[in-house]
Formats: sequence, structure tokens, C-alpha cells
Amino acid sequence: MYTNPSIPTGHDHSLKPLQSDASADWGKIRLIATDMDGTLTNQGKFSTALLRALEDLQAAGIKVIIVTGRSAGWVNGLNSLLPIAGAIAENGGLFYLSGSEQTVALTPIPNFAAHRQHLAATFAQLQTKFTQIQESADNRFRITDWTFDVAGLSLEELQTIDHLCRNLGWGFTYSNVQCHIKPPGQEKAIGLLQVLREYFPDYSPEQIVTVGDSPNDESLFNQRHFPMSVGVANVQKYANLISCTWKYECQNHN
Ligand SMILES: [Mg+2]
Repeated sequence: MYTNPSIPTGHDHSLKPLQSDASADWGKIRLIATDMDGTLTNQGKFSTALLRALEDLQAAGIKVIIVTGRSAGWVNGLNSLLPIAGAIAENGGLFYLSGSEQTVALTPIPNFAAHRQHLAATFAQLQTKFTQIQESADNRFRITDWTFDVAGLSLEELQTIDHLCRNLGWGFTYSNVQCHIKPPGQEKAIGLLQVLREYFPDYSPEQIVTVGDSPNDESLFNQRHFPMSVGVANVQKYANLISCTWKYECQNHN
């Protein structure tokens, strides 16, 4: 793991410079908040090494919270199947605590049915301009956001879609697999901070590390909230799009 000095510092000048690896105290870490796709997966799959690592962390008393853009339906299942402390779905929209069947809404949405209809109408409007975009397979299992596949969209097209969504009053983000039309302000970090306050109040920022690989992980790299963060190597693809300073692990995560 090392700091990449060639990565441009973003426009948020309130961010603190990175600690050097030598000064980082990894021994203090008691909680890992991590993205899933492209971060925990290898070629899109869970590996035996990952499952072993999750079991080892649990045995060592180190909590793992998955913070993903994946749907409520997927994450509810994963949370009950994996040895983790909990999982945040839909980029900060919902939380599932290990051992609980309850879906915790992290974004205030007064009427979920009307919300989904509004998202569908926005997606239909985007399709008039980008006729190739297709609803993601897991979109039907979502509550707070609406997804379509990122494959085949250029960075310029993604920036145009971002602009269109914001003009329509929505937020927008994307990962290595999906694009998300979402409530403005729904971010992984905002959801995670809410979960940490309510469910893990005894953990200090120095005991937490955040991990990710894509633009929808950008808020997890904000050093004001998370002094220790790691981007896996495939985050390099988005280096000029992520407006934070960050460090990454030089491993083959593709
Ligand atoms: Mg990812």
C-alpha cells in the first residue's frame, strides 16, 4: 500500500493531506466499512479468501460493514448470509443490521410508491436521449433509487446524464457496474455516518477504515470524516474524477 503523489488534489481544499503509510496506525482499526463490487470481489465474484478473511475479522472482533450501491433485495440477503456486522444498500439509502430483519431507511422518503413512479418517469426521460440505456436486473428490488447498466456509456455520456439528473432535481452516481438515479444528498458517507452514530457509537474515527474503488465511493474518501481510507487499484481509472486525496492498495483488483 502506498500514497500516489501523482493523483491530483481535488477542489475541496478543506481536506487534510494524507498521512504517510509509515504514520498510519493500522493496529487501531476496529471497524472496516467497505464497498463490495470491484473492492471485495475478484472478477465479479466472492472468493474463498474473502470469506475466510471475513470470518477471521469477525473472530478478531473487527466489525465489517458493507457499504454498497446494490439493491435492498440483494443486500438484505447478503447481510443475513455473510459474517458481517451489517450492510448499507443503495449508496446510503438503507441499512440492515446483522441479526435483524428490519430495513432501516437512512433517507427520508414520505411515500415510497410515489417515489418509485417519479424515478421511473425520470429514467424514461433519460431514455429519450440515451436510447441504449437499460434498467438493471436488480432495479425491481430497489426502494430508494433507480439503476441502469453502466456498460457502453462513455465518461462524457455519464457526465451529461449526471447534469440532466441534477437539472431534474435528482442526484446521480455510478460504479463499475451500475448508474444510479437517487435522492439528492444520498451518499455512502452520509448513510455510514448515521449508522455509526446510531449503532456503533463507541468507535472513534481513528478506529475506522473505509475502502472503495469507484466514483460512488468518493464520499468514503473524505478525510474530514474518515481519516483512514483505502482505494483499491482499480480506482485509478477514476483518478481525475474523484475530488479527494486518497491512497490505494497496489493489488490486482480489476
Ligand atoms: Mg465498487
